[in-house]
Amino acid sequence: VKGREERRDVVVLGAGAAGLFCAAACGRRGRSVLVLDHAREAAAKVRVSGGGRCNFTNLAAGPEHYLSRNPQFCRSALARFTPAAMLALAAHHGVRAEEREPGRFFCAGSAREIVALLERECREAGAAVALGTRVEEVRRDAGFVVVTSAGRVRCSSLVVATGGLSYPALGASGLGYEIARQFGLGVVETRPALVPFVFPEPQRAFFRDLAGVSLEAEVSCGGRRWRGKVLFTHRGLSGPAVLQASLLWRPRDAVVVDLLPGDDVLPALLARRRSRALVGTVLAERLPRRFALAWCGPAAARPLGSVPERELRELAARLHAWEVRPGGTEGYRTAEATAGGVDTDALSSRTMEAREAPGLYFAGEVVDVTGEVGGYNLQWAWASGRAAGEHA
Ligand SMILES: Cc1cc2nc3c(=O)[nH]c(=O)nc-3n(C[C@H](O)[C@H](O)[C@H](O)COP(=O)(O)OP(=O)(O)OC[C@H]3O[C@@H](n4cnc5c(N)ncnc54)[C@H](O)[C@@H]3O)c2cc1C
Repeated sequence: VKGREERRDVVVLGAGAAGLFCAAACGRRGRSVLVLDHAREAAAKVRVSGGGRCNFTNLAAGPEHYLSRNPQFCRSALARFTPAAMLALAAHHGVRAEEREPGRFFCAGSAREIVALLERECREAGAAVALGTRVEEVRRDAGFVVVTSAGRVRCSSLVVATGGLSYPALGASGLGYEIARQFGLGVVETRPALVPFVFPEPQRAFFRDLAGVSLEAEVSCGGRRWRGKVLFTHRGLSGPAVLQASLLWRPRDAVVVDLLPGDDVLPALLARRRSRALVGTVLAERLPRRFALAWCGPAAARPLGSVPERELRELAARLHAWEVRPGGTEGYRTAEATAGGVDTDALSSRTMEAREAPGLYFAGEVVDVTGEVGGYNLQWAWASGRAAGEHA
C-alpha cells in the first residue's frame, strides 16, 4: 500500500543467493528482517544455475579462484563459511549433492532444491520476503529509509545484495552500484565475465562453419591456463575453458588455444611422411573431423610426404598455440557473472560493512569479487551473505 511505513531492524535488497542467506542469518540473531526484490520469484539465477542442477559449492574455494582488485578480500568470509559448511547445510535440508569433478558439487536432483533451502532458512529464521516490489529511493535518516512501490521501510541496517548486471532477463540491475556511489563508495569498472567470445567478420565465417564442434583444449589468457571443453558457436567460442578465460580477458587481448593438450602432434606427423596419408586424415585421428579439415584448409588434401618438414613443424606449433583475438564477448545477456563492482577497499572483509557508511552492507556479486566457473560464485554469495548477516 503506497504511503504505508514499516520498521525493521534490517532491510536486505535482493532476494538472490546472497540476500536470502544473509536474511536468514540476521533473523537467527533475533533481528527483524525484510527482503525486497522487484522480481516475481526469488533466486531466479539459482534456479537456472548449473544448467538447472546448481553447482552450489566447490571445496577448493579460496582467493586463487577469484578475481578482485584486492585478491585477499574474499579470504575472511570464505574461511568462516566454508564449502563443507554449505554441504552440511544442504544435507540438513535433504538436498542430495553430486560431485561431478573433484570438489565440485551440484544438486543430484534440481536447483529448485537450493531455492527451497533458502526459502526455508528464511522462514525458520522469521525473515520476511516481499517480491514484486520496486525500490525507488534509499535515504539516510538516522538509519535508512527505503522507499518502495509498496510503501516506506525504516531500518537501522541496509544490506545491498542486488547482484551484478549479467542476465538482465532474470532481474539484474545496476541498483547496487548506484547505492554504493550515492554513499560515496568506489565502484570498480564492471564488465561481463564467464561469457563466450565473439569474432568480427571476416573471421566469423570460420566459426560459423564449425558451429557445434566441441573439443578438449587448453585455453590461455592473462597469464593463466584452463583445460576443458571448447565449443564453436555461430559467432565464436564458448565452453567451460573459454568462459574461464573470459574472466581475465580484456579488449584486444590475444587468447591462445592448445588444441591438442598433452599430445605432441609433431612426431606423429613426421612418422607418417613415408605413408600416403593425407594431412587432414592424420589430424582427424586426433581432432573432430570437421574441425581438422576446416583448420587445414586446402592443405588437408595434401599427402604428408609432399609437405616440407618446416611446414609440418609450423602446423604442429599452430595446433599447440592457436592465437585468436576475439572482437568482444556476447555481453551481459549471456554472461554468468559480472566482474568488477563495489570496491572492496570501501568494505570490511569481516563484516562486509561500508567503512565510511555505518549500517550499510554489501554482499554477493555486487561486490568486486568474481569467481571462476565451478561453484565459486555461489560459495562467495553464501559466505559474504553470511558474513553480513552476522553483523547487520
Ligand atoms: C545462467 C547462469 C548460471 C550460473 N550457474 C552458476 C553455478 O552453477 N554455480 C555458481 O557458483 N554460480 C553460477 N552462476 C552465478 C551465480 O548465479 C551468481 O553469482 C549468484 O547468483 C550471485 O548471487 P547474488 O545474490 O549476489 O545475486 P543474484 O542471485 O543475482 O540476486 C540478486 C537479486 O537482486 C534483485 N534485484 C536486482 N536489481 C534489483 C532492483 N533494482 N530492485 C529490487 N531487486 C533487485 C534480483 O531480482 C535478484 O533476485 C550462474 C549465473 C548464471 C547467469
